[in-house]
Amino acid sequence: MKHKVKIAIFDLTDCEGCELQFLAFVEKVLEMDDQLEITNWRLAKQKNVEGPFDVAFIEGSPLTEEDIELIKEIKKHSKAVVALGNCASLAGIPGLINGEERERLAKKIYGPNYKLRVREVRPLSHYIDVDYELRGCPVTEKELEELVSSLISGKKVVPKTYPVCLECKANGNPCLFLENKACLGAVTKGGCGALCPSHGHRCYGCLGPVRENNTDAITNRLSETVGKDEAIRQLEIFVNNPMMEEK
Ligand code: SF4
Ligand code: SF4
Ligand code: SF4
Repeated sequence: MKHKVKIAIFDLTDCEGCELQFLAFVEKVLEMDDQLEITNWRLAKQKNVEGPFDVAFIEGSPLTEEDIELIKEIKKHSKAVVALGNCASLAGIPGLINGEERERLAKKIYGPNYKLRVREVRPLSHYIDVDYELRGCPVTEKELEELVSSLISGKKVVPKTYPVCLECKANGNPCLFLENKACLGAVTKGGCGALCPSHGHRCYGCLGPVRENNTDAITNRLSETVGKDEAIRQLEIFVNNPMMEEK
């Protein structure tokens, strides 16, 4: 009998929106019943197993020591780990405010004696080797389905290393900069099919930075279009991003 690919889905600190994308193609998942088995999914299964797993999807940001221990355990028992969504791949919304500002806001909200447990939120890749990253907030049904199908068929998964601009040009869109409008497509990782510029809206960088991006050039170009302060504000989505720090 053919080996079924054992898939586990875990979540940390997040909104669970990315794992719900599995439900978007649940009928196809059910059709693939002879090829895959979801052995662990807190959200949808009553009985979960401890592993081993062929592929572990981890959604959300690791915040506490317990989270960090958990992801290390998952890694140990999985042949491959997928960072599912921006919270897992980029620290996402939980990591938007870090350091002193996080401390200041926590005290403002919970009172001056509040002891913040986590000052810096980091993506999964800060703690473990991640085999695949699926970005998005939430991830798209299309990309998730593509990845699951590739993992089942044993097809090599080629990461998308091109910017949104490439997809935007493939869609035949005129560039927003020609209309003197701002856009972060040139420094943002592709994968969404240039969703926003294809509807006349700027890309605001939700899939995070593309590798080998030219931040100086985009800062200058944005500054010419919207002014320096607004350019810096728009680029804040990439601030504290580990991939930006790699440069
Ligand atoms: S990436 Fe967005 S949709 Fe996915 S879990 Fe995080 S907050 Fe929710
Ligand atoms: S509109 Fe944005 S994504 Fe499209 S080509 Fe121009 S900069 Fe790139
Ligand atoms: S903000 Fe950019 S990366 Fe995000 S969906 Fe829109 S075009 Fe795609």
